[in-house]
Amino acid sequence: MNANLFAQLVDGIVDSTATAIETATGERISYADLVARTGRMANALAGFGVRPGDRVAVQVEKSVEAIVLYLATLRAGAVFLPLNTGYTPAEIAYFVGDAEPAVFVCDPARREGLEAAADAAGARLVTLDAGGRGTLTDAANAAPAEFATVERGPDDLAALLYTSGTTGRSKGAMLTHDNLVSNTRALIETWRFTPRDVLIHALPIFHTHGLFVATNVTLFSGASMVFLPKFDADRIIGLMPRATVLMGVPTFYVRLLEDDRLNPSSTAHMRLFVSGSAPLLADTHREWRARTGHAILERYGMTETNMNTSNPYEGDRVAGTVGMPLPGIEIVVTDPETGERLPGGEIGMIEVRGPNVFKGYWQMPEKTAAELRETGFFITGDLGRIDERGYVHIVGRGKDLIITGGYNVYPKEIETELDAFPGVVESAVIGISHRDFGEAVTAVIVPTGGVELDEVAILADLETRLAKFKLPKRILFIDELPRNTMGKVQKNLLRDRFANLYD
Ligand code: ATP
Ligand code: MG
Repeated sequence: MNANLFAQLVDGIVDSTATAIETATGERISYADLVARTGRMANALAGFGVRPGDRVAVQVEKSVEAIVLYLATLRAGAVFLPLNTGYTPAEIAYFVGDAEPAVFVCDPARREGLEAAADAAGARLVTLDAGGRGTLTDAANAAPAEFATVERGPDDLAALLYTSGTTGRSKGAMLTHDNLVSNTRALIETWRFTPRDVLIHALPIFHTHGLFVATNVTLFSGASMVFLPKFDADRIIGLMPRATVLMGVPTFYVRLLEDDRLNPSSTAHMRLFVSGSAPLLADTHREWRARTGHAILERYGMTETNMNTSNPYEGDRVAGTVGMPLPGIEIVVTDPETGERLPGGEIGMIEVRGPNVFKGYWQMPEKTAAELRETGFFITGDLGRIDERGYVHIVGRGKDLIITGGYNVYPKEIETELDAFPGVVESAVIGISHRDFGEAVTAVIVPTGGVELDEVAILADLETRLAKFKLPKRILFIDELPRNTMGKVQKNLLRDRFANLYD
């Protein structure tokens, strides 16, 4: 059997006349059409010199052609490398230099600025714009639709996906065909996807969430997805009466809650709301349930592993937790210092093992060896615990752990208290270097518009609920938390900004 993701996708198509993708302008692409387009595109890629195992780097706007390009790259046996559309030419130079792709596909508007980087890496530069036009599609349109899907083994690379760079420089995660296919199947089973599903796809497609979770799950189940170029509350609410699933980052849900039209009747046709990529506030979960009657299903994953856990489809979707390991995936919690397994309920390092776990970091053998154990467990860098019912709770990243006066402080615990305070939209608790304490617990709060909050009053309130060593030494107020494109709070930027607070 050909383990190529594309071959497996095609094998599973039951009704090739069914709609795979619908665009925001109403164009419908059937499965048969999608497959034919990947054939033309795979021929075009081969014509540009792409051979099995080569990387195809891509920095383009979201379009059907971009999905065709993803599938065609796999079909040609090459390795898909999507890049955040927000990256500047200088950033792109790093990724392209690191990955040495055979072809680099960019937006024609950016071509000039990227030529040097492509040349330096020996990559052929071709173009694709937001409307799906460019030198790449020109070549594809002139090519035949027949293309023999390249034979791949389960461990052959399918994608090189760079991490979001929330904690430092992005690392290239090497993902195999089986990593992606096994995870897709586990999610379809867990979330009960069927050909009748219609997914509202409003996520970017350069990240694991929008590319693998949303796209692979939809296509492997014969469902369809409506492609929105980006988050658009108006359009999403307009689509809900004929859609069944929405996948979003927490900010999607926060913003949708601001819309008066969100209620039980406007969401009555929807069967599932999935959230991930960053922690969903328990408040948002509760508010959503109160407004719509739906419990958002939160799941947890990362570039290196795809998805690891999910709240149950049937059963309690517990606010503030990320649920249980997906079928075939193991999660353990270990002592971050010694690596020993910790007893149930204790907070420690989350480690994951399963067919979803990547092959290592691209050209970083030392980092790979440090984070991927010989036993197959991947040390995620996230701290958490597993409760008595088996639900995983993430308490934050290891790098965000605060050590103050010798005590460990988990930011999430304090953030949860602060977020419950009237007039607080959200908060981030960070450690800032301090002469006496090593690090001082420091809270950064975003107040509700127009509300004046008082540092002293909040501290007095916290004192009644938290041990003294956990109390923030200072509370700062800012208008919004810095976030990257995936909606992740960039605590490193906050730490830099307030680095001299206690000098
Ligand atoms: P980098 O590794 O470059 O610092 P990153 O870890 O943000 O960036 P991603 O792989 O996109 O890059 O994100 C994975 C991380 O996102 C997880 O390790 C976890 O910290 C966080 N995450 C994902 N889903 C959830 C969730 N439901 N709750 C809390 N955190 C989550
Ligand atoms: Mg990470």
